[in-house]
Amino acid sequence: MVDRKIEHVFDLVVSGDGEYLIAELGELVARASGNLPAQASDFVRALPEPATRGDWIAGCVHECSIYARVSSGLPLDYNELPSPVRVFGLSSSFDVFDGRLTAHVSSDMGRGCIYSCAFCSESSAVTGSPRDLRNSADRLFRQLSDTVTVVREDHPLLQASAFVEDSVMLGGSAGQLERLAHRLECAPLDIHWGAQLTIDLIIARKQELLRLRRSGLRYLFVGIETLIPAEIGGMSKDTRSRRRWLDRIEDALSFLRDADIKCGCAVLFGLGESPENRRALLDELVRMRSIYGGPHPISFNWAVQHPLRGSDDSKGYDYLDWPTPKGELLELFRHFGEASARYPLHDVGTPRIDEVREVVTRMKHFAHDPRTSVWPSYESNPSETLQ
Ligand code: SF4
Repeated sequence: MVDRKIEHVFDLVVSGDGEYLIAELGELVARASGNLPAQASDFVRALPEPATRGDWIAGCVHECSIYARVSSGLPLDYNELPSPVRVFGLSSSFDVFDGRLTAHVSSDMGRGCIYSCAFCSESSAVTGSPRDLRNSADRLFRQLSDTVTVVREDHPLLQASAFVEDSVMLGGSAGQLERLAHRLECAPLDIHWGAQLTIDLIIARKQELLRLRRSGLRYLFVGIETLIPAEIGGMSKDTRSRRRWLDRIEDALSFLRDADIKCGCAVLFGLGESPENRRALLDELVRMRSIYGGPHPISFNWAVQHPLRGSDDSKGYDYLDWPTPKGELLELFRHFGEASARYPLHDVGTPRIDEVREVVTRMKHFAHDPRTSVWPSYESNPSETLQ
């Protein structure tokens, strides 16, 4: 806004931890009782000392320059914060939980993942290391318990479910998974819940997952980017590389089928894979779904370069334009979660229309849940492949 690259559309920009700062801003608005300061900078000045907990920066445009307040970085204590479900309630359901109301819960062990896959915006290289792993199972248990209480109080005719938003549930820690299982066994909750894990962690934590299955674990979500990690420059989560990646995926899916834990997955293309291997991955997913009943659902994405706090391979995108101009590519991208023509990964380049169209054409083979409907017969169709 100061450089006049965009209109002056934001009064105040806040980055960082918002848990206490948002409450502080709300207090300021309430105290102003309708007489809000004309200038956003007066509002920012009125913020209490940077001692407001969290690592944050609040800024606004004032007389053609930036006026900002920076926190002193007092750490948050997530053990003291209320569960989001107690503050915001809940009103919607993930359809994998059979009509139960679904809360978003978290162990608050950190801001991102324990791994550092280079293409990922949740990588610990960007989001930092775990802050408080030791108490994370107890916090997660509290949030699950609060979910059951809120559903019972606010929606007495319905039952509870929850999805754990940790990038990797409890950092994949065996000790924390056992601690959560212990808490749930000592104080059983009427809740079905799901979480995210990696393929290798599913294989490594089978006993803990079987225990958690008896306490409501019904769904795990994984990321499957490729069958050949080396082709996309490797993945930090690929921790058992002496065994073929495809064999490990099958091992994890087979275990989940036998444990009656549903599996969903995100598929990410645009990481530098060849069209042949992209095709092979799609074929394998179809084959595995017919054998193991999952993964379902599948969300498709085409990798976008994230700002990554400056670690963006020197791309320096300013992200001021719509990510994809009007045209056929934009129509095709409507089938993806994340995708962009303007902001592709470094060295990969803008996706070609024919390769994206090929993936979209094949998506119809993933439309049915193999557990609840007859699976359509599938054969690789030459007309669907790139020539
Ligand atoms: S394991 Fe998943 S969430 Fe974690 S850094 Fe890798 S891709 Fe991202």
